[in-house]
Amino acid sequence: MRAMAESRILQGRTIASKIEAGLQAEIARLPAAPQLRVLYFDSPASRVYWHAQQAAAARLGIRTGAPGNDWKTGSIELPWDTPWTQVERILQAWNADNSVHGIFVHQPMPPQIDAQQVSASIDPRKDVEGIHPENSARRFFARARIGSCTALAVMELIESTGIALEGKEAVVVGHSDIVGRPVSMLLLDKLATTTVCHVGTDRAGQLEAHVRRADVLVVAAGRPHLIKGEWVKPGSIVIDVGINVKDGHVVGDVEFESAKKRAAAITPVPGGVGPVTVMMVMKNTVEAFKQQTGRA
Ligand code: NAD
Repeated sequence: MRAMAESRILQGRTIASKIEAGLQAEIARLPAAPQLRVLYFDSPASRVYWHAQQAAAARLGIRTGAPGNDWKTGSIELPWDTPWTQVERILQAWNADNSVHGIFVHQPMPPQIDAQQVSASIDPRKDVEGIHPENSARRFFARARIGSCTALAVMELIESTGIALEGKEAVVVGHSDIVGRPVSMLLLDKLATTTVCHVGTDRAGQLEAHVRRADVLVVAAGRPHLIKGEWVKPGSIVIDVGINVKDGHVVGDVEFESAKKRAAAITPVPGGVGPVTVMMVMKNTVEAFKQQTGRA
């Protein structure tokens, strides 16, 4: 591992651009443009994320449907009070539509919508977030057909540092279905010695001790500055997945300024994991297209 003074900022946009260039070449070879449909509920965070997805899709020539906020022809923003039956109807229609290759439903979701029910209602072949129970089960057995977009982004960022993960101490903070669990599976696949921490670890007063011995630290807790810079192991790699608004600013789960003085490489928030995750959704859409059209 590198000396302390050399901390490298892992710029998500640079890594996303490299992936985008590869995807561009791949899409040019396809017989038709893949189509991604996105559903989100009226919230500023989702709108920002959707615009980033839409811009990436447009650059790549991935269709996201006609403009106009009509789910019959394109991606959709729904009011916060939309009932589950309406969401289910839309997902079923998109599942049945052969011209739709990928479906993505954003978090946050309103209380009447059960996120697990949403994941299970998307055709697993079109689940470009990679969180349908079938895709999660395949990942558990290291047989993923479509990987979790956020977890794949985390692995891209780690791999961009050139670290050999085998035998390294990897600590994941967060054990959610969409980030913590899939990331820990992918780290295990690389033979990292993987510890998963969560709210129980913190309540037991053990979080700092685990973080302090991490060669690779992945944090996805959604708690601003939960991880103190002084806990970060010198020379380690820190991937901060968290997106929080604190005092009007977007911040991560890690105290960036103090952590970057100790880490060998660290992701900023914003501009770290986020742009790579957007590109991984595009990559998964292309993958889903290939699988559905027999080109995989
Ligand atoms: P979640 O709320 O589903 O899960 C949070 C996890 O953090 C849980 O496992 C919980 O036990 C753990 N946790 C909470 N408080 C803790 C504490 N004090 N100490 C230790 N662990 C604690 O969240 P999620 O959906 O996994 O998202 C996590 C964060 O990542 C959020 O900020 C979210 O916005 C962000 N996110 C970013 C991207 C991206 O592409 N950058 C993608 C998905 C999620």
